[in-house]
Amino acid sequence: MGFAILNGKIIDRSEAKVDVEDRGYQFGDGVYEVIRVYNGKMFTVTEHLHRFVKSSDSIGISFPFSSEQLTSLLEELIVKNNLRVGIIYMQITRGVAPRNHAFPTEDVIPTFVAYTKEVPRPAESLKTGVKTILTEDIRWLRCDIKSLNLLGNLLAKQKAAEEGCFEAIQHRGEDVTEGSSSNIFIVKNGLVSTHPSNHLILKGITKDVILQLCAKNNIPLKERTFSLEELEEADEVFLASTTSEVMPIIEIAGKKVMDGMPAPVTKKLQELFVQEIEKQCGALKES
Ligand SMILES: *Cc1c(COP(=O)(O)O)cnc(C)c1O
Repeated sequence: MGFAILNGKIIDRSEAKVDVEDRGYQFGDGVYEVIRVYNGKMFTVTEHLHRFVKSSDSIGISFPFSSEQLTSLLEELIVKNNLRVGIIYMQITRGVAPRNHAFPTEDVIPTFVAYTKEVPRPAESLKTGVKTILTEDIRWLRCDIKSLNLLGNLLAKQKAAEEGCFEAIQHRGEDVTEGSSSNIFIVKNGLVSTHPSNHLILKGITKDVILQLCAKNNIPLKERTFSLEELEEADEVFLASTTSEVMPIIEIAGKKVMDGMPAPVTKKLQELFVQEIEKQCGALKES
């Protein structure tokens, strides 16, 4: 089972247990991050830790480590678990206190946990693309916080799973927001569009990498709200997330995107994304 971090200490994973009155367990009162690991190295770790602290601050949980401290703890965890390709999951909650919706008034120590998991790159799906459904976005209005409260996201993903699909594309009325655990991009006449990073979506680190890659490589991109109609008429659609990278979407609600094959702009971005991974983490094995 390997090792986990509980409140700053690396311990046997089977011993990493939290109290029944942990506010994360009872209320989802906490935030989380998922970091990709390639060749035993963390990808975009600074960006993830920055967002982690920001999410934490936004709900008034004071972060108990410096970024440097946490980075070296996570590096130690990767080595101890002998992780090559996978993810680190970590979360911080407000801590353990008698159940009461209002924040505890006495000083409570936040609960921090992290563990690793082997997760291969989704080589096959990256080549062939994935199918998606559409669903109304029923979530709250602070989707910019990477909160442990994921019921809206879970219900959307479950609906996708029940229809044999990989992801649910959410929309508020006519406006497309994001996937249940990914950001959504369309391409029309060479222009890449994706929802602006505001309170209606989670600002993905993968999304940010794509924005930078587009800027550096003269690929036109606009952060703007696009409609369901534009989604339906797009030349290309793809999703982006830490675990899925740049993933082509070939079907939406039973209808093919163009001819149902990954297309040029998406493939170009996949190529640039792999170059970025290799720059930070070293060469990826051909799969
Ligand atoms: C984490 C997440 C994403 C993707 O963010 P990455 O940092 O690219 O992994 C997108 N949407 C939601 C709702 C998420 O929770």
